[in-house]
Amino acid sequence: MTAVRGVRAAVLTELARPAPYAESRPLEVRELDLDPPGPGELLVRLRATGLCHSDLSVINGSRPRPLPMVLGHEAAGQVVEVGPGGSDFAAGDHVVLSFVPACGSCRRCVAGRPALCEPGAVANRGGTLLSGTSRWLAPDGTRPHHHLGVSGFAEHAVVSAASAIRVDDDLPFEIAALFGCAVLTGAGAAFYSARVVPGESVAVFGLGGVGLAALLAARAAGAAAIVAVDVVEHKRALAVELGATHSVPGGPDAVEAVRELTGGGADKVIDTTGSEKVLAQAYAATTTGGTTVTVGLPHPDRQLVLPALSLVAEERTLRGSYLGSSVPRRDVPRFVDLYRAGRLPVDRLLSGRLTLDEVNTGFDQLASGDAIRQVVLL
Ligand SMILES: [Zn+2]
Ligand SMILES: [Zn+2]
Repeated sequence: MTAVRGVRAAVLTELARPAPYAESRPLEVRELDLDPPGPGELLVRLRATGLCHSDLSVINGSRPRPLPMVLGHEAAGQVVEVGPGGSDFAAGDHVVLSFVPACGSCRRCVAGRPALCEPGAVANRGGTLLSGTSRWLAPDGTRPHHHLGVSGFAEHAVVSAASAIRVDDDLPFEIAALFGCAVLTGAGAAFYSARVVPGESVAVFGLGGVGLAALLAARAAGAAAIVAVDVVEHKRALAVELGATHSVPGGPDAVEAVRELTGGGADKVIDTTGSEKVLAQAYAATTTGGTTVTVGLPHPDRQLVLPALSLVAEERTLRGSYLGSSVPRRDVPRFVDLYRAGRLPVDRLLSGRLTLDEVNTGFDQLASGDAIRQVVLL
């Protein structure tokens, strides 16, 4: 079994350093060692990792995680070595990594809801792999944490095999990476959480990588009207290119605009913003009998206030959706097939390519709304 020495990795050592990150440099590229993969684990040569708002939430302190941590959770790469005891992976396999390792045997996994895997959640909260350990080793003998079992901003990583999904060798890594978070979360939210069916009206609040993936999936599912809502004009323009039938500037007036465009509220509304205020708007923009889905992650202290009567009197549904309520091992191949068929053109989400040393600048671009999905090429 191979240990890897001197792996270049972007390490977060302190929460909530002030923006701009190009100056405060919350992520420091350091050389770490990696222990060999244990049983049920894989050593992966990472090749591409996307920058996601959930990374930003860790960096800015609104989603605290144990530190130091090798950040990044939307990644693709190639298996270098399989841990002792073997697995259904082999060296050379191309893999997408899911940010929830699914043990396969807890009550949530056996109920078909691997996004809610209980040991997976414990490992992710603790910053370890599913085995409860960290394979990272710093020169001072300490063990940096894994981010959501992935630690994608690094040249190599050890991951639980339960985090990996095999994909075809000819799928470019920079596209493959997007399936691990943006596409699973966004497309899953439209297909499985909102259950968009042909002819429905859909509104999407927040047009980052996840929101645009939701929009593409709503279109693929046959939505008749798709209203795209965001404060950033160029994101609304891209949404229209990708199939939105209308676009509306984000803000308090968006509710009335969506209601008007959809004849009294959209059948399905998907909020991806992570703001409880926008979630309340998304709910208000949903029609009687409709479903509001949220995939955003507000600060844990935030409360949501809604007109309680509407849930019953209007038969309304409000659904949370983690990892798009998807089953990664089933859905990554499904969504890749839809991509290949031209029905889910997720390559359009890719707005920039970075080196590992440019990762802080990349997060400035994401925070400012300039970027949709940037990937670090490794
Ligand atoms: Zn993400
Ligand atoms: Zn499980």
